[in-house]
Amino acid sequence: MQVRLLVDTRALDRPLDYLVPDGLDVPLGALVACPLGRRRVVGVVVGDDPATHTGRLVAVAGRVATAAIPDELRELAFWVARYYAAPVAPCLRLVVPPGAEGALRRSADGTWRLTVPARGPAARLVVRRIADAARATARQQEILAAVPEGRAIPAAALVRDAATTMPTLRRMADAGLIALDAELPVAGDVHGLGMPVPPVPARLTADQATAVARIGAALEGGEPPALLLHGVTGSGKTEVYLRALDAVRAKGRGAIVLVPEISLTPQLLSRLRARLGPAVEVWHSNMTPSERARADARLRDGDADVVVGARSAVFAPVRNLGLIVVDEEHDASYKQDSVPRYDARQVAFRRGRAAGALVVYGTATPRPETWHALERVTLRTRADGSQPPAVRVVDMRTQGPGPVSAPLARALRDAADQGNKAVILLNRRGFALMALCRACGWLARCPSCDVALVHHRDPARLACHHCGYERPVPTVCPSCGASEILRGGLGTQGLEQALAKIVPGMRLVRLDASSTAARGSVADLLAEFARPGPAVLLGTQMVAKGHDLPEVTVAAVLDADAGLRHADFRAEERAFDLIVQTAGRAGRRGESSTVIVQAWEPGARAVRLGADLAVPTFLDGELARRRDYLMPPFGHLVRVVAEGHDRDAVIAVGRELVDGMATGAWPVTVLGPAPLHRVRGRTRRALLVRGDRIADARSAALAAVTAARPSATAGDVRIVVDVDPQTT
Ligand code: ADP
Ligand code: ZN
Ligand code: ZN
Repeated sequence: MQVRLLVDTRALDRPLDYLVPDGLDVPLGALVACPLGRRRVVGVVVGDDPATHTGRLVAVAGRVATAAIPDELRELAFWVARYYAAPVAPCLRLVVPPGAEGALRRSADGTWRLTVPARGPAARLVVRRIADAARATARQQEILAAVPEGRAIPAAALVRDAATTMPTLRRMADAGLIALDAELPVAGDVHGLGMPVPPVPARLTADQATAVARIGAALEGGEPPALLLHGVTGSGKTEVYLRALDAVRAKGRGAIVLVPEISLTPQLLSRLRARLGPAVEVWHSNMTPSERARADARLRDGDADVVVGARSAVFAPVRNLGLIVVDEEHDASYKQDSVPRYDARQVAFRRGRAAGALVVYGTATPRPETWHALERVTLRTRADGSQPPAVRVVDMRTQGPGPVSAPLARALRDAADQGNKAVILLNRRGFALMALCRACGWLARCPSCDVALVHHRDPARLACHHCGYERPVPTVCPSCGASEILRGGLGTQGLEQALAKIVPGMRLVRLDASSTAARGSVADLLAEFARPGPAVLLGTQMVAKGHDLPEVTVAAVLDADAGLRHADFRAEERAFDLIVQTAGRAGRRGESSTVIVQAWEPGARAVRLGADLAVPTFLDGELARRRDYLMPPFGHLVRVVAEGHDRDAVIAVGRELVDGMATGAWPVTVLGPAPLHRVRGRTRRALLVRGDRIADARSAALAAVTAARPSATAGDVRIVVDVDPQTT
């Protein structure tokens, strides 16, 4: 019998022969306890062939008392490993029941069990205040003071900020001074968000009815395997998903609904729960093992037949899968940026095809790849009959200093007067947040990352967003001694300050990576924004994803074209999406609304067409451009990155990789090696391999990596292979 061990040793990335003890029933996909040296590790049975080698074989110690991986998912894991050029063990971990990471325990009756830890590690816990702190000791009072009122903060952050320890926090939790929870916004919380679930519409719009009929026919006839549901924001895509879910469940089949980020889509979740009841299970990669175990069991037992979750939910053990919905399919977070570097959209397509399930990709801004490949179903109008907002582009070269243009300031003041809400997206990429000397041009840089340090307040410091390096803000220039250090306060924090002056009466809710170090607090921040009264939600890309926010009458993108100065061939697509998606946040209840796009290059194609919400025109042009350059979907890419502390070694490995690809007979072209920013003191070189077929690009890349492996190992250079990269 052949077993794959769930360990990350490269030498063990192959099937191993084990003997089956007499009388032990171990079907394919079963988990077994395997002796490995003196340890027992979890293995997955992947073959029942007789042993091929002649050495002495060891027998497995026993079967692990947990469900076997269904064939469908085992095969999917192997496909992921092949397609994304990843070792098999991390791919199998995507489909094994929870706990397979942990220790194996032998019960008194001789069966092996996975130990599922009851409490999450500190990194996954959040702290809330629950009671008045009168009972607390002075030291506990100090710790409590570091927990903001009415909001959860990560336990790890509190340990750091209040100079305390996890055991202390656990004792405080036991004493009822704080609540210590898994940071997940679980279903109960989501209902408490105060975001009302819209009623079931009395009738579908004409476009919705057509879409539901088309999806129904595809479910019935098994063709086509996938559809694009292109609907402008507010067109009622969710209602179409709900009808499709009803249809597939009526046939006794299950479904998966993928969303880019579970905590940003509480409304979709509550709508599914409200309509489908307890049949809906939530699934994501940060669940505590016990939450995951419960969800896993409910799905395997058929108590739940619909899963909603972020990218890892594409691997959920839904029985008799009939439908996969990929909502907001344009979102880059569907691609995982650690091993295995899978793209949940591609995995969904593959799983759907193998399972005979329909895949519906929904978005207001389809990717060129999807637009090109799939049959489209279109929702042209907003469901409530309201008109899409007019978008005004403001040329920042004509504006005074400061991040907020005059037209935006006016619109915000109006919103404040009328008690309305605004959403402001700050496109971070390429934005100046640095400390710069006006006299000599000295710029505060990270000593190990080749990037400008970012200015933070509370406490004032300069920080590197790559490696976390920090230094105080200099009062005089370290280079020339001048005292005119310009603090580019144009990040989200600087914007927050500017807004506090422009609209002092509006509640400012900042949503970005630093304000939401914990996932749990995203829901809290959105709820705070949703509370009655004038408010501004400001932040990075995240704010464009917030689903269906109430009463927003002003939406703005600042520095909308910043991304265009970036070399990535998807820069145009991203800038365009950002504008259209942000516009979609405004006026969703039919209020008259203002959408403002601030740009330095207002004539840029992505900005112009974005402001016109001209999706088909943009995509057709984008496809024509990509056809010329043989970029996806007209060619396939594999990115190879070499990185390490030894600069010369990295450069040598980069060159060796290029040479390796040139000598092979693969029909590919190679771009690079291009230098990337140093990160954490590591030099990096990136190569892009392009082929007409993904198999060619991947084979060429892998052959070159294998050839360069000895020098990479000698020079301590790490090589990363990314198939279908989303950043290039
Ligand atoms: P999308 O996901 O396409 O942005 P939603 O599904 O969130 O849009 O729908 C937008 C709004 O329109 C929601 O408040 C929803 O309840 C409402 N809606 C959807 N379908 C209809 C319909 N047929 N008639 C009236 N209102 C509808
Ligand atoms: Zn200076
Ligand atoms: Zn750094």
